[in-house]
Amino acid sequence: MSPVLRVCGLYPDLMNIYADRGNLILLQRRCEWRGIGFEFSRCGLGDRLDPSAADLLYIGGGQDRDQALVAEDLVANKRGAVHEAAGSGVVLLAVCGGYQLLGESYALGERTLPGVGLVDLRTVRGTGPRLIGNCVIEADLGGGPRQIAGFENHGGRTHLGPGATALGRVIKGHGNNGEDRLEGVCKGNVFGTYLHGPLLPKNAWLADVLIELALDVELDPLDDTLEQLAHQTALRAAGV
Ligand code: GLN
Repeated sequence: MSPVLRVCGLYPDLMNIYADRGNLILLQRRCEWRGIGFEFSRCGLGDRLDPSAADLLYIGGGQDRDQALVAEDLVANKRGAVHEAAGSGVVLLAVCGGYQLLGESYALGERTLPGVGLVDLRTVRGTGPRLIGNCVIEADLGGGPRQIAGFENHGGRTHLGPGATALGRVIKGHGNNGEDRLEGVCKGNVFGTYLHGPLLPKNAWLADVLIELALDVELDPLDDTLEQLAHQTALRAAGV
């Protein structure tokens, strides 16, 4: 029987800016082009998350206001299931606002939003300007160092704790906090990043890594002429 990638979008209506939905479309297409099935489910405010019902969990970016709604619900209703899923090897991709909520907390002035505590990181709203622009990082997800290109726009500054490993090193742009040149987080099959773009259409190779991890398969290559052009264009936009 051919495999099926089961993707669950966490709060897809609230956590979805800068075309983050394109990440899901790309995952779907790259599965379908290879004869791999694709199933998408949504898990929103108040919904129960079944930790064994998806191979890949996805949460996109969001405004502070939407993040506040999501943070309360995530911690109150889904924390245990998110930990259970991650502990059993389910892939989790979190972008920007979603990434911030993977950590301990997101402090916004007077208010502190709780995170699910899946990775050792904290985010604080900086007093400086938002960190905006095209960004390129170098990451090694097993096959040697490769570049990931995207667009970042965040007021929050994320600081990794001693228990966390960055997804990559910043080549161009700001990254986690504009200071330490680190970007994102990576822990087992959990990936967090500030890069929108959307991320996966600009880095199709990364989508394939995630699908391989989620299904524990080795994928056949596709004709990626257009995808490579998109990747090169995103690198050039950042000045790389
Ligand atoms: N609201 C968060 C911040 O400004 C995340 C923004 C985003 O997802 N682009 O830091």
